[in-house]
Amino acid sequence: MKDIIIRKQGIASPCAACKLLRRRCAQDCVFAPYFPADEPHKFASVHKVFGASNVNKMLQELPDHQRGDAVSSMVYEANARVRDPVYGCVGAISSLQQQIDMLQTQLALAQAEIVHMRMRQFSSISGSPENASPSSKDTQSHQTRSLFNMDMAEDQANMEDSFWH
Ligand SMILES: [Zn+2]
Repeated sequence: MKDIIIRKQGIASPCAACKLLRRRCAQDCVFAPYFPADEPHKFASVHKVFGASNVNKMLQELPDHQRGDAVSSMVYEANARVRDPVYGCVGAISSLQQQIDMLQTQLALAQAEIVHMRMRQFSSISGSPENASPSSKDTQSHQTRSLFNMDMAEDQANMEDSFWH
């Protein structure tokens, strides 16, 4: 077992990368901090998608404090590419983008409805005196009910519309 080396701290097995590549895991192995032996799948998918030498190059080009994040994103991207060979993580991004678009449309519709309801409320408060309720107390309770019951507000509005035209 030549590839199992003895480190200063004691006996250590090669990292997941060196194990898969069947090479000696040096003490300064660039993969060792991010690809522990007990998580072999992480390096396997990254190696399959990017290739070990590219991963090595990408890590070497980064300062130490950014390598952990780079490995996380590479593992994420590689897993997405394995799951979806056509779109990879772009598939996830575009499906989330579609959800955002859909929700923004719903939000715009809801906001338009709020404006519409406020306009109705405003026009029933500032209606001409002959159409106004006999007492201001009745108007107040009518407004409160309308806010909590959309069907009722709808009916009232229809009544008011036919009343005014
Ligand atoms: Zn190693």
